[in-house]
Amino acid sequence: MTKFEELHKLKERMDADDSLPLKKGATKLVFGVGNTETKILLIGEGPGYYEDQSGEPFVGQAGKLLDKLLILAGFERKKVFITNVVHHRPPDNRDPEPSEIEAYGKYLDKIIEIIDPKLILTLGRFSMAKFLPNIFISSVHGKKYEKLWNGKMITIIPMYHPAASLRNGSVLKSEQDDFIRLKEILPEILNPKSVKVEVEQESLI
Ligand code: URA
Repeated sequence: MTKFEELHKLKERMDADDSLPLKKGATKLVFGVGNTETKILLIGEGPGYYEDQSGEPFVGQAGKLLDKLLILAGFERKKVFITNVVHHRPPDNRDPEPSEIEAYGKYLDKIIEIIDPKLILTLGRFSMAKFLPNIFISSVHGKKYEKLWNGKMITIIPMYHPAASLRNGSVLKSEQDDFIRLKEILPEILNPKSVKVEVEQESLI
C-alpha cells in the first residue's frame, strides 16, 4: 500500500470513530492535507471555524500567514503535509484539553508513522509539548532538536503558532526570522549529502 492509501484508510477509520471527544460538536474531520511523500510534517493545534467548515487545516487567517512563512523557508504548502494535535474543532476555539489531545494522539502517532518525516515543525505550544514537554516556546522557538521517535531520529523544530504572530508583532518578527533560518539549515536536515528536496505530487485532504 502507498502512503497515500494508508493515510486514506486511516482517515476513514478516524471519521468513523464516534469515541473521539470533539466529534459531536464539529462539522468535519480535519485529518490533514498535503504531499504524502514529503519529508516535512507540520503539526498545528486544532481546527478553527474555517477548517471545520472545509475539512482542511490552516485555511483561515493563520493559514494564509503560514503559507507566506513557508515561502520564506523556500518551499510551498503543497510540498509538506499539515495536520493538527486534535482533528475536530474544539467548541468556541478553546484550547484542547489533555484528555482530548490523548484521544486524538493515537491517530496523530499513526500519521507520523506513515509519513515517516525527517523534519517535524511544531506550530504552537500544544504540538511542541508532544515532543518537547515542560519547556517554554519563547526560549526554544526556531531551534533544532533531534528526537528518537518510535525508533527513528526525527528533527523537531518548534515554531510559534501563526495565530500568535497575527496577534503580536514581535512574535511575528521572530517567527519570520525562524523560517528564514530554516531555509539555510533545511538541506542539511533533509539530506546531509545532497541539497535535493524530494517532492511528489499526490495530495490528500
Ligand atoms: N490553527 C491550527 O492550529 N490548526 C488549524 O488547522 C488552523 C488553525
